Amino acid sequence: MDEQLNLAPCGYLVIDSSNYIIEMNETLKQLIGVDEPLIHMHEMLTVASRVYFQTYFTPSIKMHGKVEEMFLTLKSVNGRIPVLMNTAERNGRYECVLLPMTIRQEYENELLMAKRQAEKIHQESAEAYKKLQDLMKEVEGKKQELEELNAQLQGMTETDSLTGLKNRRYLDEQLLQLTGESSETGEPLTLLVVDIDHFKQVNDTYGHPVGDSVLQELAGKLQNETRDQDIVARMGGEEFVIVLPATDSDGALKMAERIRENIEHGEWKHVNITVSIGVAVYESGDNPAGLFSKADEALYRSKSSGRNRVTAQWAYMQ
Ligand code: GH3
Ligand code: MG
Ligand code: MG
Repeated sequence: MDEQLNLAPCGYLVIDSSNYIIEMNETLKQLIGVDEPLIHMHEMLTVASRVYFQTYFTPSIKMHGKVEEMFLTLKSVNGRIPVLMNTAERNGRYECVLLPMTIRQEYENELLMAKRQAEKIHQESAEAYKKLQDLMKEVEGKKQELEELNAQLQGMTETDSLTGLKNRRYLDEQLLQLTGESSETGEPLTLLVVDIDHFKQVNDTYGHPVGDSVLQELAGKLQNETRDQDIVARMGGEEFVIVLPATDSDGALKMAERIRENIEHGEWKHVNITVSIGVAVYESGDNPAGLFSKADEALYRSKSSGRNRVTAQWAYMQ
């Protein structure tokens, strides 16, 4: 073997048709770490590569006269060495060139690992994203629940539980706002206080549950008698307040009289009742308590002058 081939930067090997080694260059000997050429091709190969070599190499070389890019693993003193082998037949002998692939294989392995890692990260981030979506959906649901509960709670804090009308707390709030608006705009604002006559007797005669039912019935009637923009509230006991925005003294008086009459002549499930009503009109400088006490004073006059009647505060306060 000439020097150039002996020291070429690739392994060079000549084998016979039974795979016995005839020649082996120095580079290949150094690669596998032997001083003398080996005897048989099988000695160089790992078990898996030997099986592959036996089943693929001999039939291929016999059929095509060459084998290209056969991937084999050599045994060496330093461990396994992946090589790519090209073989061509010449004069009944097979000349093989072996190129180590260690660096390339490491590089490919690294690439493969990076790809797997990227896939794993992708999968993990997809799972995390899905989890986040689920959590966001859950939070959205809880938020909605909370809003509904808040609305319910808000309703409860401003509603009278027996009659379903607005309660005193709500009335106080609204009255503050409406008196403020009226003092700015000059829009009329009137207020009625409605109190059942001799209600104690209803309880005494028919019992408390019937009394409750009468209060509920009256609440329904007051609601029916008023407009959407009016506020009907139960102040407590058998006393109700109706606030009439954008309504002057004439309008309020007419409405109060109509309510009184319809209650007196209306149909009642258990017992007929009458109501006394006091009417007050908002005047500049009134605060809610002042407006309310004017109506209360008028109510007192309705009671003291015989009940089942309407008294206007301005009728005696000239
Ligand atoms: P007046 O004509 O002067 O208004 O007499 P009245 O009997 O209606 O007034 P009074 O203030 O003497 O009595 C009010 C009664 O209302 C006494 C109380 O037991 C009753 N009452 C207050 N709240 C309720 C309630 O929630 N349910 C029932 N059934 N009765 C109530
Ligand atoms: Mg009463
Ligand atoms: Mg009363």
